[in-house]
Amino acid sequence: MEFREPIKILAVRDRDIEALERAASGGAFSVLARPIIEAKGVVFGARMFDGGEVRHVAARSLDEVSTLQGSAYVQSDTSGVYCEVANAVQAGIPTLFVGTPCQCAAVVSYLKARKSIVDLESCNNLIVCDLICHGVPNAELFHSYQVWLARKCRTDDGVHSFKFRTKRNGWGLYYYYYYYRNGRKHEVCEPGDYDPYYASFLRGETYRECCYRCPFARRERVTDFTIGDYWGIESIHPDFYNSKGVSVVLVNTEKALHYFDDYAAMGCDHILSDLDSAVRENHNLNAPTKRPISRDSFLVAIEQRRVEGDMDVLFDKDLKPKKSVKRFVKRLLPAGTFSALKRAVKMVTR
Ligand SMILES: Cc1cc2nc3c(=O)[nH]c(=O)nc-3n(C[C@H](O)[C@H](O)[C@H](O)COP(=O)(O)OP(=O)(O)OC[C@H]3O[C@@H](n4cnc5c(N)ncnc54)[C@H](O)[C@@H]3O)c2cc1C
Ligand code: SF4
Repeated sequence: MEFREPIKILAVRDRDIEALERAASGGAFSVLARPIIEAKGVVFGARMFDGGEVRHVAARSLDEVSTLQGSAYVQSDTSGVYCEVANAVQAGIPTLFVGTPCQCAAVVSYLKARKSIVDLESCNNLIVCDLICHGVPNAELFHSYQVWLARKCRTDDGVHSFKFRTKRNGWGLYYYYYYYRNGRKHEVCEPGDYDPYYASFLRGETYRECCYRCPFARRERVTDFTIGDYWGIESIHPDFYNSKGVSVVLVNTEKALHYFDDYAAMGCDHILSDLDSAVRENHNLNAPTKRPISRDSFLVAIEQRRVEGDMDVLFDKDLKPKKSVKRFVKRLLPAGTFSALKRAVKMVTR
């Protein structure tokens, strides 16, 4: 696998306001995807379905691209998709693949093994883009969680439109879903640390074991582009901060540099940044997530609940977020105020 130093670092915000609202961060994914669709190409990315299945699928229109937006904090199923990517590339179709770094590395290895490409840099109709990644829980845990959530809310027909990253309260870690009970619609939008699955994910307890030894958690990259949240932008480039989100984009190949300048740049606002600033609050550009001590208790708990055949207890009891002063204050303040206060304090104390 060839690791390359990024050539250019950008802070990016999509100019399409509706796409930016749906995006997890500053919408870099849509900015890169639109020229591919305009050229009658195909975009591969992860889509979350009602019920909790997350699968890599192909999108051939802007409407289909919009269904891939948002971050799903669970491993996505890539069965069969690498073969589809190879067929598109071999047929000369403009192709974009977006996924976690290990998925991107897998797609490049697969294409080389099938002799669909010689190497990434010289293949002009393929763009590969990875995400800054702190790790993923497996699909089984997320499925058990979705079943528990539907039961806890006493829904008529399950939970709908679950999103880990809604912008109803601005750019941050808020989740959203809705459900029907006795025919009446209920909407839920809360900070991630209120929820057992999300809170344990944020504490880094629930990832796959290999994520704690991830070989891709470094500055050098194996893809054309790397995208993520530009955390810390409010103090690094305060004039570019936006409450609807800002993406950090690492441009890693000459091909990507030309693609961005010639096709993607006109669809977004962007400024030049630097790697040290991008890494400052994005630890996974430097090292894998540290395996927390509490990981062992999580493994014991999940094994016990599996043997007992009652996964609901895992979410009701074992992973239940602890009450804290921070949570209490967050609940009292109007939506978004806590994050705004935190940012203000950070700027003053820097
Ligand atoms: C598991 C995970 C961990 C992450 N960790 C970090 C982090 O530590 N720091 C950071 O800055 N950013 C992280 N990100 C990336 C960040 O959350 C955004 O996904 C990224 O900035 C893209 O946002 P956007 O606004 O450009 O795209 P959006 O328009 O929101 O599109 C999201 C893109 O992410 C892809 N995607 C979503 N879920 C998955 C998944 N489960 N597997 C593979 N691809 C997926 C979709 O295919 C789509 O292309 C993580 C994302 C995931 C999925
Ligand atoms: S942390 Fe590494 S191994 Fe885990 S999903 Fe992300 S890229 Fe893959």
